[in-house]
Amino acid sequence: MQEGMEQLNLFNIEENFPEPDPVRVRRVEQLAIDAVRSYGHKVRSVKWKNNRRVMASVGKGGVLNIHTIYKRANKSDLNNLAVVMSGRAKPKDIEQFQKYIRHYLPREIGEGKSRLIINPARGLFHDLNQKFARVLPLLGKPLKTVPKLGWSPVRVGKNGITWGTQRESEGEPLILVNAVLDAQDIPNFVVEHILWHELCHQVVPPENGNGNSNKRVVHGKAFREMESRYPRLNAAEEWEQKNVGKLIRKHKGRRG
Ligand SMILES: [Zn+2]
Repeated sequence: MQEGMEQLNLFNIEENFPEPDPVRVRRVEQLAIDAVRSYGHKVRSVKWKNNRRVMASVGKGGVLNIHTIYKRANKSDLNNLAVVMSGRAKPKDIEQFQKYIRHYLPREIGEGKSRLIINPARGLFHDLNQKFARVLPLLGKPLKTVPKLGWSPVRVGKNGITWGTQRESEGEPLILVNAVLDAQDIPNFVVEHILWHELCHQVVPPENGNGNSNKRVVHGKAFREMESRYPRLNAAEEWEQKNVGKLIRKHKGRRG
């Protein structure tokens, strides 16, 4: 598992996140059309947009433009969006709308080469906050600052995957998990292990290498001892080793 700033620089090249299942997206499109029609807008089709400021608008030819974060919406979220568009929203509707945006709008950190788009902790299939809460007690002591969590863009190399990484961001600890793991066929214990591994890095600083080299040892004895508190460590590491090739092929196949 790699960590550190160096890897993060490589992330910024593309903002690459898993797409929701196309069948699900088509269902969302129909729900959105129905919701917006119920407020009298004549819309026929949906176009997904990525303008960070506009969540939805009705364009020419009955096109309903919706921000891509709504690909994850359910019926209630889409009805809420339609109410807000209608201009008839009550304060509680506005509150629900803002809550959705805060929850799903990707965050941007860093600048220039180290600029990075992070997707919120609640992914398409795995909620990092939920899983983090399960591994945190393994520390056996309270954390001074609980790290922010997020999904980082999918990055795979020829030889492997950066499963997770951790750093400071705006003075706060941050743990990122490769978004390739936000998928239905990824077991919970694997995502939990990545979070725990990165948390261990935040708790156990790198050790100095022995004697003549000034190389830092990031996975030293103290680190491994701490990491082994995770009960399913062996199963997770086995799974990761066994599936890394499959994940790389899957990802490359999608980008074709
Ligand atoms: Zn590591």
